[in-house]
Amino acid sequence: MKLQIIGDPVLHSKSPVIQGAMLAALGLDAPYTRRLVRRGELPRYLEWARENGVTGFNATMPHKEDLIPLLDGVDPAARTMGAVNTVCLREGKWLGFNTDGAGAVEALGSGLNLDPAGLTITLLGAGGAAKAVALALSAAGAERVLVCNRTPARAEELCAQDPLGRLSPHPFGGDALSRCAARSQLLVNCTNLGMAGCPHQFEDFAFLDALPAGAGVFDLIYHPARTELLAQAERRGLRTLNGLPMLVNQAVLALERFLDRPLDRKAMAEAAASALRGEEA
Ligand code: NAP
Repeated sequence: MKLQIIGDPVLHSKSPVIQGAMLAALGLDAPYTRRLVRRGELPRYLEWARENGVTGFNATMPHKEDLIPLLDGVDPAARTMGAVNTVCLREGKWLGFNTDGAGAVEALGSGLNLDPAGLTITLLGAGGAAKAVALALSAAGAERVLVCNRTPARAEELCAQDPLGRLSPHPFGGDALSRCAARSQLLVNCTNLGMAGCPHQFEDFAFLDALPAGAGVFDLIYHPARTELLAQAERRGLRTLNGLPMLVNQAVLALERFLDRPLDRKAMAEAAASALRGEEA
């Protein structure tokens, strides 16, 4: 078995550390390496990978959408999302999956002890990550996902893609956010606001005051580990979760696809989290 992560940029990716730790915990001596693949180079990469014994790979930007027409098969959830982050070679065929959304739902369970079923959720953003998470929350039984995005057309487009019709578009402005938050038991940030290197920050955090007591705030960002959004939510006594458990859980689900068998998800997530802590120390 030979595994890779492809993307541009790809050097920053934590996937080799996470997957390496899980493979080691399973006693598997399989390489998982980074490979720089630029936009437009996917057809050549697929050929190279097949010739060089690559049996599976993860994809990060800018390839998640571009891969779809090049694969032999795509899992229905990934097709609905229009994005693939995990590709496996099975019986000579490249098959695509998306573990981002399911990784987020797993993280909510393990990190906040929260099941989305029946909840009303405010979700900020309508980019690639927002799409995967919003559709996964809907599939997991959320009563309503209120998608608030700076560019309204993108929120409308995302909501129209939900086969269950549980997503609705809303404005990203202060009052609108507060009105959505007041109805929600969970708020999920899928924008770049607060991410290291992003020059912008939330203009104000008044919408957090509208969340009911005991609500959760889940920020997909993991760098920094504690964003200003999470710090402000903690100050208000809300329950918080950063993006690290999602990053780890989507990797566990990807490894299940690569190995084509279920794993002890808790043990795998612990091995990965411990390797990431070791890297930071
Ligand atoms: P993306 O496709 O570029 O989407 C970015 C989103 O942020 C869009 O909705 C965009 O709104 C919004 N945004 C950007 N700047 C804004 C501003 N100044 N004010 C208001 N909204 C703004 O990015 P992505 O791939 O979805 O990633 C989004 C975040 O999720 C990143 O921080 C990324 O690190 C994180 N992420 C985490 C994980 C994990 O495993 N934890 C996985 C994937 C992504 P417009 O539509 O108006 O431009």
